[in-house]
Amino acid sequence: MKYPAIQNYINGKFVNASVSTTMDVVSPLDGNLLSKVPMSSAKDLNTAVQAALAAFPTWSKTPIKERVQVFFRYKYLLEKNLKELAELCSEENGKTYSESVAEIEKCIELTEFATSLPQLVTGELLEVSRGVECRTEHVPLGVVASIVPFNFPAMVPNWTIPNAIALGNCMIMKPSEKVPLSCGRLAELLKEAGLPDGVFNIVHGDVEIVEAICDHPKIEAVSFVGSTKVAKIVYQRATNHYKRCLALGGAKNHLMVLPDAIPGMTAQNVAASMSGCAGQRCMAASAMIGVGNVDPIVDKICEEARKIIPGVNLGAVINKESKERIERYITEAEKDGAIILVDGRNTKVSGKENGTYVGPTVIDYVTPEMSVAREEIFGPVISIIRTNTVDEALTIENANPYGNAASVFTQNGGMARYIIDRASAGMIGVNVGVPVPREPFSFGGWNESKFGVGDITGKSSIEFWTKLKKSTIKWNAEAGVNWMS
Ligand code: NAD
Repeated sequence: MKYPAIQNYINGKFVNASVSTTMDVVSPLDGNLLSKVPMSSAKDLNTAVQAALAAFPTWSKTPIKERVQVFFRYKYLLEKNLKELAELCSEENGKTYSESVAEIEKCIELTEFATSLPQLVTGELLEVSRGVECRTEHVPLGVVASIVPFNFPAMVPNWTIPNAIALGNCMIMKPSEKVPLSCGRLAELLKEAGLPDGVFNIVHGDVEIVEAICDHPKIEAVSFVGSTKVAKIVYQRATNHYKRCLALGGAKNHLMVLPDAIPGMTAQNVAASMSGCAGQRCMAASAMIGVGNVDPIVDKICEEARKIIPGVNLGAVINKESKERIERYITEAEKDGAIILVDGRNTKVSGKENGTYVGPTVIDYVTPEMSVAREEIFGPVISIIRTNTVDEALTIENANPYGNAASVFTQNGGMARYIIDRASAGMIGVNVGVPVPREPFSFGGWNESKFGVGDITGKSSIEFWTKLKKSTIKWNAEAGVNWMS
């Protein structure tokens, strides 16, 4: 085992869980055992909540300009430790080193946004009648929780940590049990940056901890990022306990390619979008809808896909079950009559035989009813559906239950606008394969890709992590008299 057994992080210290059950943490890159993660109990969660509750009065009363100083230092520490953090992220998640560097750079950008919050959360003030004013202020909620998935071990935690904490809340983080190491390192950096003990806590585990978070009477808000199946469970359970909840789910993103799209640029974007992070991104292109004759573009996509080499510029998928699931989808499509143009099944990387790799896969002549067209595959696979018109393409895109992202590749501005108006997704790309809005814009999908109001990052997150206090004030207490009268 490369690293010591993982512990929870409560009140500024790493502590053992109250139970001895653990799960192995295995590197997808080579199958080596990295560590063991505790499957904590509701009792451990409660200990963390009590620590967060104790820290809240002082932290929430610390002026925001002072609170964000921690995040200026944290940003510097992320920069200083970028290489080590990126290596850890690759090791536990399986993505390539350069993808992990990009992930840590995104953490830095998210933190940079949090340092600007004092400029963005000023309240409003208006004299609503003579001598009487109304003012608003954003007030922190209290103890909040963040439940995160495996595919971005550092970035998704940082969607919530800097904003929620800079806005005055105290947090319980529940990392994915598949990639629990990066979060522990983030806790150390937050402490080094001067975050007071108890403001940020980590409780490891799986279903039991997630359920305990939803049920705990002292947790005010729950943010969740993961699959749609679990997002629904968490959203229902947390709101059933009258908590504020924002639950981001899975995705099936469609790229619509029009015949006038620039072939080289489009092919590069499609290939990068479907294969980046081994296709394990909620913003990955999963289905390409070719409108009219897109044969030259499909040829180029195959050329691009063949340049993507597992173990070199393509990472591993998270585990054996994922590899098997992805390969099953490809086999099913083949049986259903689709044509496999580039086949990533049975991939082995020499010297890393226990790694879980799937090569880039391009499947053509997929029809909308096939499972590869309908379901989230979460692997480096693109399913190409052929249509004759833009409206047919939109009908297919609109019919999918998810709504994270959709993109169009065209040189026709009017046609791009037509698709922006009609695609049923929260994030739209025009000639952009992974249309992640950068801060201060916010991240969040529609339909079954998100449950709850608002988005998780950027300006929209301010509303989620705070409640608005409205005061109506007459400073001159004398009846019938004010300074204007
Ligand atoms: P997951 O839903 O399996 O797990 C997410 C979290 O929920 C983990 O912390 C896990 O421990 C916990 N969990 C798992 N099963 C549970 C259950 N039955 N009850 C309660 N808690 C449970 O997701 P994952 O496999 O870790 O991540 C991949 C999924 O996340 C994909 O569907 C992907 O699209 C999605 N995702 C979405 C976004 C987005 O912004 N919409 C971003 C990243 C990932």
